[in-house]
Amino acid sequence: MDKLYDVIVLGAGPGGLAAGLYAGRARLSTLIIEKGQDGGQIAITNDIENYPGQVLEGESGPSLVARMTKQCENFGCERAADTIKSVELSGDVKVLTGAKDTYKAKTLIIATGAYPRPIGCKGEQEYMGKGVSYCATCDANFFEDLEVFVVGGGDAAVEEAMYLTKFARKVTIIHRRDELRAAKSIQERAFKNDKLHFMWDTVVEELGGDEILQTMKVKNVKTGEETVYEADEDDGLFGVFGFIGRVPNSAVFQDTGLEMDRAGYIPTDADMRTNIPGVFAAGDVRVKSLRQVVTAAADGAIAATQAEKYINEHA
Ligand code: NAP
Repeated sequence: MDKLYDVIVLGAGPGGLAAGLYAGRARLSTLIIEKGQDGGQIAITNDIENYPGQVLEGESGPSLVARMTKQCENFGCERAADTIKSVELSGDVKVLTGAKDTYKAKTLIIATGAYPRPIGCKGEQEYMGKGVSYCATCDANFFEDLEVFVVGGGDAAVEEAMYLTKFARKVTIIHRRDELRAAKSIQERAFKNDKLHFMWDTVVEELGGDEILQTMKVKNVKTGEETVYEADEDDGLFGVFGFIGRVPNSAVFQDTGLEMDRAGYIPTDADMRTNIPGVFAAGDVRVKSLRQVVTAAADGAIAATQAEKYINEHA
């Protein structure tokens, strides 16, 4: 593709779509590249109830995203469905080479997101959004007075498990070792929480059920003993939350001069600028403390506004 865009937005989750909307509205020529479906992680979220003003009955992740996508379209954003394989970021023109084409722009907004590391057991994919979740802030409400299992032993697992005790009847942390990785201060609070229980030296082997999550096979890694848990008859289902780390979608930026932390997240300043002039990052792929639709959208708006400023300054 010969066209030189003002802005390329890589990724069409809430961060990327907000960036596209702001860039398009600023009359910048904007291309949004997405390899899969729009929405990123909220594309797999059934109910959205914590986005400010989001009170539409039956709103789902995909329906919210569809309106974001339409807004970008209305403001003239162009689209490409492609998987970017390599990037050249150091020059004034940023070059992205995909499986189908090559794309060029004066600025790049990286909004490629992050994904929760899968638990890795049988049935996990099948029950995603039907009992399996990776976001307590998003889904805790749906397990009011039900039983919930949390997989992991780090800060996130223990913090989120404590959060879940405010909703669920009983929360059990399933950890593959016999001691937690979480910070001692977090552990102290966790061990004082009556609703929180622990299943040590245990891994989840298989999830099952009739349409919704109702059974879980676990294995004690020390004894090899396998146990199958079934949902309480009155409940009809239980929840399994996975918190065994997250993986940023940033592998394509390795060895390109773009600064990343050890886990692959991209540090930015408050204006979403990375260490490379003209390259911005927005949403979950950034180093940040709260990964939600509202924070991703805010990042995208800031990144696009700063991209416009950068273009004006370099004209
Ligand atoms: P983490 O610290 O990497 O912990 C991941 C946990 O998942 C570990 O307990 C690990 O077990 C377990 N695990 C990893 N792979 C597994 C597998 N395949 N099967 C079963 N268990 C597995 O990740 P995190 O808790 O998401 O935290 C990420 C970063 O964010 C950390 O730097 C953390 O400090 C920070 N954070 C901080 C806070 C806070 O300060 N309040 C809250 C959330 C996150 P092992 O222990 O056996 O390795």
